[in-house]
Amino acid sequence: MQINANFAKLQASYLFRDIAQKTAAFRAANPQADVISLGIGDVTRPLPPAVIKAMESSVAEMAESDTFRGYPSAFGEDFLLDAILKNDFTDRGIDIDKDEIFVNDGAKSDTANIGDLFGTDNIVGVCDPVYPVYVDANVMGGRGGEFAGNRWTKIVYLTCTAENDFLPKLPDEHVDILCLCFPNNPTGAAIDRADLQKFVDWAIEHGSVILYDAAYEAYITDGKPRSIYEIDGAKTCAIEFRSFSKTAGFTGVRCGYTVVPKALQRDGASLNAMWGRRQSTKFNGVSYVTQRAAQAVYSPEGKAQCQATIDYYLDNARTIFDALSGVGLSCWGAVNSPYVWFKAPDGQSSWELFDTLLNDAQVVGTPGSGFGPAGEGFFRLTAFNTAEKTAEAVGRLRKVF
Ligand code: PLP
Repeated sequence: MQINANFAKLQASYLFRDIAQKTAAFRAANPQADVISLGIGDVTRPLPPAVIKAMESSVAEMAESDTFRGYPSAFGEDFLLDAILKNDFTDRGIDIDKDEIFVNDGAKSDTANIGDLFGTDNIVGVCDPVYPVYVDANVMGGRGGEFAGNRWTKIVYLTCTAENDFLPKLPDEHVDILCLCFPNNPTGAAIDRADLQKFVDWAIEHGSVILYDAAYEAYITDGKPRSIYEIDGAKTCAIEFRSFSKTAGFTGVRCGYTVVPKALQRDGASLNAMWGRRQSTKFNGVSYVTQRAAQAVYSPEGKAQCQATIDYYLDNARTIFDALSGVGLSCWGAVNSPYVWFKAPDGQSSWELFDTLLNDAQVVGTPGSGFGPAGEGFFRLTAFNTAEKTAEAVGRLRKVF
């Protein structure tokens, strides 16, 4: 027998393990130290009360034989699909059909699983730095080539730098599948309509497909597009991933959705039909309780409660951003994102800065180099801690810088 040899090529991801180990060693050596984490990309505020109420009443339904439910639809229940369609698309003037929406257990699975639809010879393009799942999933699927130095030979890296405000340029070599993520993790960059239109036009011209990760769209505050389908022509070239994780605190509940438009055809095949076939074979749907919870995100109370939490995180982001730029550091993010991305001062590497901040301020962040080669020399802080801890951390950071 043969195993999938691509797994042996994967580079071990030491990022979060190393962060945890270094932090644990510091705590052991300094038991009195109050270490504050602004490193983890996970939410901390509790679920909105409207969501909890919906979960409680749907659990009660599961307790009665008349209202008990077994297997859910592999594509999502109508009550949730209708709420998504109305609130995220129709009310925003975006024309999407219900059968183009596929409810899932969060964006991570589908940003990785979507590779099932594409042949192994396709060339994949990614922004650098970026959420690492796109690269590793494509390596598993045989689209990585070999790892040489700090890059995969078959993957095209669109380098995002301070000079271009961390927005990628259009690929100048052949790319079949382009992974875009806006607002971006880790840089916090969001893309405006005109720039996103250029990517859509490029994809249409080249017959490429854009995989658009909009997991942080709820953080957009300045009118930039929340969905790629706000852009003319996107339905013929783009798949979009959405998540309730950072929108409604669902990182532990697990729910999101993927949009695969019927107008998206390649090689004479409908990607929507292929994805439907894929989901009905490999996925058994999201639990009833979770889908009722997600539906409650769209109720008037749910919307207000989610927005209050997003505002809370955005305030934290602004506190971090203002403090760091106030001491002269070059910072990005915060406006449309729960992340602040900044350049390490004095030419320090990402990991050197990690050590400095841990030792001198007892603040844990994430080295930018963990998100791709172009992240070296940068650092990410997140807005997901409490306002009190964020303010305390920022006070300490000011002293260090
Ligand atoms: N996409 C991006 C860009 C992310 O940063 C994350 C999580 O941090 C995800 C997707 C995964 O989200 P989910 O919790 O929906 O799986």
